Amino acid sequence: MKLPYSGGCACGEIRYNISDEPIFMNDCQCRDCQRMSGTGHGSYLTFPSRNNVKLNGEAAYFDMVGDSGNTKAGHFCPKCGSPVYLTFAAMPELFTVHAASLDEPSRYKPQVVTYVMRGYDWDHLDPSLPKFDKMPPA
Ligand SMILES: [Zn+2]
Ligand SMILES: [Zn+2]
Repeated sequence: MKLPYSGGCACGEIRYNISDEPIFMNDCQCRDCQRMSGTGHGSYLTFPSRNNVKLNGEAAYFDMVGDSGNTKAGHFCPKCGSPVYLTFAAMPELFTVHAASLDEPSRYKPQVVTYVMRGYDWDHLDPSLPKFDKMPPA
């Protein structure tokens, strides 16, 4: 068993501790991720089970209908505004955290880039990563 993944927001109000390994790590260039991150893409680690996530603090959230047509909720700290995690209406078991919210962001190892069709020339990502116009086929 590896170390849990811990992290939270900038002010410390929201904290998580995840005793699991990520099943998916991606840079996403969709419009929602651009708006949430304030730059060209978001970077995420997705964990398979809410049962292995311990959360402290009360996050605020807003719902978005993504490019895929699925509803997702962006959870952020009501005090400092940091985006911390995402949940998905159609896949309620999944728990996705923003890479920079980790206490050790170097543990993020992107595997793919998603929604490249929405990306901008000024947002350069690792050219060795597999790229998908939308999401990779399941
Ligand atoms: Zn905060
Ligand atoms: Zn996205």
